[in-house]
Amino acid sequence: MINKMITNKCPNCGKGTIYKERNIYFNFRKPRMKKECEHCHFVFEKEPGFFFGAMYISYALGITQAILTFLVGTLFYETLFDMRILIWIAIVLVLLSSFNMRMSRIIWIYMLRGI
Ligand SMILES: [Zn+2]
Repeated sequence: MINKMITNKCPNCGKGTIYKERNIYFNFRKPRMKKECEHCHFVFEKEPGFFFGAMYISYALGITQAILTFLVGTLFYETLFDMRILIWIAIVLVLLSSFNMRMSRIIWIYMLRGI
């Protein structure tokens, strides 16, 4: 299942794609999402505002990445909490923002696919 998620595949059939663009990892353009799967016609956006819940997933991804960046950053500085680590956390979060937005929607679709 994780393999289908990271390759942008439909949760129902595994053949169609959720996003129109091929590069979903490092793409700062506006995400272009399909209304439904081109193979099985599984509807991705169940109702208007369906993806508001994906903000919680995006928040969790961002917090996880910030903590990991902090833990890696502490290896490079002598004090336990060096303020320069905050700059690195900000850089990492900005660079991963498009990935988080797309991946949080994919995770949200996979979580609620039975509804
Ligand atoms: Zn499908």
